[in-house]
Amino acid sequence: ISSVELTRHFLDRIHQHNPDLNAFISVTDELALTQAKAADERLQAKTAGPLTGIPLAHKDIFCTKGVRTSCASKMLDSFIAPYNATVVEKLNDAGMVTLGKTNMDEFAMGSSNETSFYGPVKNPWDTERVPGGSSGGSAAAMAARLAPIATGTDTGGSIRQPSSLCNLTGLKPTYGRISRYGMIAFASSLDQAGPMANSAEDAAWLMNAMSGFDERDSTSVDRDVPDYTATLNDSLNGLTIGLPKEYFGAGLDPQVAQTVESAIKHYESLGATLKEITLPNTSLAIPTYYVVAPAECSSNLSRMDGVRFGHRAEDPKDLMDLYTRSRGEGFGDEVKRRIMIGTYALSAGYYDAYYLKAQQCRRLIRDDFLKAFEDVDVIMGPTAPSPAFRFGEKTDDPVAMYLEDLFTINTNLAGLPGVSIPAGFVNDLPVGLQIIGNYFDEARLLNVAHRYQ
Ligand code: GLN
Repeated sequence: ISSVELTRHFLDRIHQHNPDLNAFISVTDELALTQAKAADERLQAKTAGPLTGIPLAHKDIFCTKGVRTSCASKMLDSFIAPYNATVVEKLNDAGMVTLGKTNMDEFAMGSSNETSFYGPVKNPWDTERVPGGSSGGSAAAMAARLAPIATGTDTGGSIRQPSSLCNLTGLKPTYGRISRYGMIAFASSLDQAGPMANSAEDAAWLMNAMSGFDERDSTSVDRDVPDYTATLNDSLNGLTIGLPKEYFGAGLDPQVAQTVESAIKHYESLGATLKEITLPNTSLAIPTYYVVAPAECSSNLSRMDGVRFGHRAEDPKDLMDLYTRSRGEGFGDEVKRRIMIGTYALSAGYYDAYYLKAQQCRRLIRDDFLKAFEDVDVIMGPTAPSPAFRFGEKTDDPVAMYLEDLFTINTNLAGLPGVSIPAGFVNDLPVGLQIIGNYFDEARLLNVAHRYQ
């Protein structure tokens, strides 16, 4: 099959199913077919790499040259990116084909894809339920076979939680592994890009192409990129798996617990040993995150002022009116809530009480993990506390929504890698198993994930 044929197949499926699912904000037919033709030429000239000609979907948070990059906000509805994010550039160079830009929570703030300016995304497993968020469009597109692989970003769980709710393999790499250049910033010290795939093997191929040092991102780490596919089949004999007791207690749906526990048991038959561990500061993660993330987002989003790009209010009276109305009209409720919390936390006199305190808690959370990794190779637990929930179920209660990320947020605060893999079903809805690794241990995570499948 040629890349053009493959690309047409997915474009047709998108045009057929997207009106119902709303997984894509933009479909880039023309760009896709141009890239597919170029890929076919490379294939014929035998200058192709392993990913050449494979279509993919990008979360609409990655700047894509000449294509609207909205971050699912009215604020950027008319923004055409003038350059490519490093992730997009690298995958283009690998010969991949961009099918379009996927829906998401506005500026990646949410866990259900319900905060998008373009409307909610349906979960293909049950269209009355959410696909998770914030990378909900990528997850739904994958689950409905509208794309064979997709990119996502994860600030507090946004790759792993939608992967769990849509039965995918989603990896959040170590902070610094993948360049953030051209990825619209939410909370810069937590944001990481990663693959959302049908298997650990597919995720490994995408990791090979996405990872690496980038001098345009000051937090990018200069460290060799291993071949993530080379160790997928390594034996798990002697692997020690840590089970944090805090991940199996309050807040976890008992049926999800059962499914995750039986998935973990399976690893014993593959030669692994299970060990109960403790991450005593787990309960600090959500309050810490909801100081750090809003504080950073309030600063990052200050660039959306209606002056240089994005939404601009009509007929402003003066500069203040331009700022106030452009931002008032351009941002949705959740984004405004975060900006207000963050601005408050950073304001003079409160910094020590909130932001500084949160940084100290962050260190405690990180130290818990480092101590645990003295005794175990990987940590396992649930990805999300429950399977996909219904639309509207948590929208009136921000705290209930925030608790959705109970088991994912701590790894972002620590900067560690984590992967969610399909673990089974509860009432016909997918449930994910989360595997957390030490810094830069993505190859081992993918190996452990691959051996399960
Ligand atoms: N759900 C979390 C939030 O709303 C995490 C989002 C993310 O990882 N981008 O902030």
